[in-house]
Amino acid sequence: MLDVKEIRKDFPLLETKVRDKLPLVYLDNAATTQKPKCVIDALSDYYLRLNANVHRGVHWLSSQATDYFELARERVRDFINAPKTENIIFTRGTTESLNLLAETISISFLDEDSEVIISEMEHHSNIVPWHIAQKKHKFKLKYIPFNDKGELETEQLQNLITPKTKLLSLTHISNTLGTINPIKSIIELCHKNNVMVIIDGAQSIAHLSIDVQDLDCDFYVFSGHKVYAPMGIGVVYGKKELLEKMYPYHGGGEMIKEVSMTATTFNDIPYRFEAGTPSVADTIGLGVALEYLKKVGVQDVIAWEDHLMHYATERLQTIENIRIFGQSNNKSSCISFLVGNIHHFDLGTILDMQGVAIRTGHHCAQPVMQHYHIEGTDRLSFAMYNTEQEIDIFMTALQKAIAMLQ
Ligand code: PLP
Repeated sequence: MLDVKEIRKDFPLLETKVRDKLPLVYLDNAATTQKPKCVIDALSDYYLRLNANVHRGVHWLSSQATDYFELARERVRDFINAPKTENIIFTRGTTESLNLLAETISISFLDEDSEVIISEMEHHSNIVPWHIAQKKHKFKLKYIPFNDKGELETEQLQNLITPKTKLLSLTHISNTLGTINPIKSIIELCHKNNVMVIIDGAQSIAHLSIDVQDLDCDFYVFSGHKVYAPMGIGVVYGKKELLEKMYPYHGGGEMIKEVSMTATTFNDIPYRFEAGTPSVADTIGLGVALEYLKKVGVQDVIAWEDHLMHYATERLQTIENIRIFGQSNNKSSCISFLVGNIHHFDLGTILDMQGVAIRTGHHCAQPVMQHYHIEGTDRLSFAMYNTEQEIDIFMTALQKAIAMLQ
């Protein structure tokens, strides 16, 4: 079991007083996690001791910065068990990773005859890039539906796949429903049909143990800030044989071998996809965050968050007229709900007045809202540092809010 009391000491922000007086209860971790002090220290250490541009310099400072930057790549590789560091591309986050893949895969592998499948439970960042790419490249986009429990109708996937299907892009964990999709069997089915698979790991990277070789996904993407790392850094993991065939995304410095007035030859992977000066400090911070999570113990974190989710679900089920969206038995890390006719925004506002931070709205997953014919939900989401006591405070605040609003 985790020593949550000790862990909380690593996260200075948890001591913040809301409006200078109320203790903060932070239950919005699916939006972003707080950062441990070691990550914050790594950022200031970089700017205090190491700041130089990477890869380009012959001078000592630049080579130091480059070593730390490439160490972060190795730490990411190790954390998701990628075969080599060349499989790891740094981006600004999941959104940029998915835009990169949508654009470069379209250019490199798709044509007007191709079909791409996503699901109806995707975050907008795994929908809109496909809409944009579709406009340019004219492929057909299909959706796997989900049922009222919030589970993908995976039996429909076999019917959706045709000889024209080239790619499936799917979230590992729904940021709204909490459903953990059975991606291993889905990937197997896709590969039997020569369909590539992208996994959106924005919500799974902090809440499941990820082994990209065991999953055998072709691509896996995530954001650092959802796994205790700084904002502005993200990752694309890709299989070497695919990345090597893919056209670059952004053009600029670093991603070239040679440029003349008439032509460019591109650099090797992963640098081919990393044009321009990267966010070096944030990248180093990501490496430190992943090491921190490993040290705390990924399996212990998963068990603790699972316990918190079940504890909160049981307590929420005692509330009259509550509807919980996402009832899968295979679920993780967040709970979406509505109480009677109370508007999600009103409820969130009154909780905030009591120091409790949850998220309200459509969670950038409007097709999920359309499925249930609602505008939005209230969502609480957990991290390693949350406690049962915080859920109790949330419940008391919730009961007060309901009494005020009903
Ligand atoms: N995909 C999922 C499932 C998410 O939950 C999110 C963010 O909440 C994203 C993609 C986008 O992540 P970011 O805003 O860090 O790029």
